[in-house]
Amino acid sequence: MRKNVDLETMTDGKLYTGNDMVRLLCNDCIGCTGCCNGMGRSIQLDPYDISLLTTNLQCSFQELLAGRIELNMCDGIILPNLLMVSDREVCSFLDDKGRCSIHGFRPVLCRLFPLGRLYRNEELWYVHQINECGMQNGGKIKISKWLGIEGLKEYEKYIIQWHMLLAKIQKEYAGKVSPEELRAFNMQFLKLFYLDSYTSDVNFYAQFYNRLKIIYKTINSAASFEH
Ligand code: SF4
Ligand code: SF4
Repeated sequence: MRKNVDLETMTDGKLYTGNDMVRLLCNDCIGCTGCCNGMGRSIQLDPYDISLLTTNLQCSFQELLAGRIELNMCDGIILPNLLMVSDREVCSFLDDKGRCSIHGFRPVLCRLFPLGRLYRNEELWYVHQINECGMQNGGKIKISKWLGIEGLKEYEKYIIQWHMLLAKIQKEYAGKVSPEELRAFNMQFLKLFYLDSYTSDVNFYAQFYNRLKIIYKTINSAASFEH
């Protein structure tokens, strides 16, 4: 989810790296499902999230679209997000005991909460959104441990590249090409990064970077797109 965060009022004002300790512990979220319902379209899913979901649930992206996720237009580009279901607007992965049924491979935005990410000059920082979770009266934890992402440095390099791609499309490309070109581009983008499955036999990042080269080739060859 891309949102403008007022660092002064919505965070503790500090920029963190994965090695920093932050007061995030919330008693294992017992009795609270605050960030698993009413989230609207905000829990967007990137290719890494989708590769984890499809591999661990042994399903395709199309199967996830049948009740687990949905597609939405976001500043000119079609992106998937977790679907909130029922009149309670609850994530379909929340079980009847109020726990995440996919905890081990839940999307990274779920892992982050209530941290946010800030991208500056091709660098990634974490921010602590102090008003998002009312249960954080426990101790401090290292951000890398909070996230629990294997190979965090490699992941961070990837997510910076993903962020830069989305920013280029949303802030430059989408506004300059014709509606027909944008439609065709969206079809290619969806197929390349989401519909074409990621194989668990090959490193995810290698597969991603191959696809990244292809999409940049399309962007750079668009006749109506001035660089
Ligand atoms: S709002 Fe805080 S305590 Fe509640 S589920 Fe989310 S992270 Fe856990
Ligand atoms: S995937 Fe899990 S942690 Fe994320 S919103 Fe759904 S139930 Fe909550």
